[in-house]
Amino acid sequence: MSNLPTTTGEVSEKPRLPLSLLNAATARFVCTYGRGCDGICCKNSTPPVDPEKQQQINSILPLVLPLLRPGASKLISDIGYIDPEEAHEGNPSIRVEDEWCVFFNKGCVLHQVGAEKGDSTLFKPVACYLFPIDHHSSGDWYIRQHGVDNEEWTELFCLAGTPDLPLAVSTLGFEMEMAAKQDDKIKLDAKTKAAEEEKSPG
Ligand code: SF4
Repeated sequence: MSNLPTTTGEVSEKPRLPLSLLNAATARFVCTYGRGCDGICCKNSTPPVDPEKQQQINSILPLVLPLLRPGASKLISDIGYIDPEEAHEGNPSIRVEDEWCVFFNKGCVLHQVGAEKGDSTLFKPVACYLFPIDHHSSGDWYIRQHGVDNEEWTELFCLAGTPDLPLAVSTLGFEMEMAAKQDDKIKLDAKTKAAEEEKSPG
C-alpha cells in the first residue's frame, strides 16, 4: 500500500494498479454518496443489463418490488424494468420512472438486496458498480471525468476532477479490482466464442 497515492497527495512512486487506466495519473474522484450526495448518478440513469444480469434480477424481483418507489414498482409490474428502446453496448437498459432509475429508492435497492446476501454486485448492473471506471472510446479503461472522451454527464459534480479531490486511483480500489475481473471475463468470453466458431465454421 505504501506506493499508492495518499488521499491528498501525489503519486510518489509508480503505483501497482490492478488495471491499466488511461488517465490513472491525472483523474481525481471521490464518491460522497451519503455525505452530501443523494445518489444523483442514479438520476435519469439507464444502465445496460446483459441476459445473465437480467436473469439474476428476475430471480429477486418479487422481493425487490415492495422495496421500490410505488410508481417504479407499478411501472415494472405493468411493463417490466427493461426499456427495449434504450440500448447500450448491445444490451437493453433499465427504465427510468419519474426521473430516477426504477431500482433507486433512497439508494440502490439491487445493491442493498445483494449486500444482504453477501455480495453487493450480485444483482447490480456492471456499469453501476464499476462507475466511474468505464471503457474509453479507444477500448481501454479510463476514469470518467468532465472534458475527457466527450463526457456528457456534466451535471455530475463528482466527475469534475478538480484539484481539491484525491487522485481517483487512491479511492477506487474496489472498482479497479472489479473492472480487472470484468476484463478477464471479457477476454475469456472472446476466447470461448472464438473456439466455438473454430469448431463449427460457417
Ligand atoms: S441499478 Fe442501482 S446503481 Fe444502477 S442506476 Fe439503478 S439504482 Fe442506481
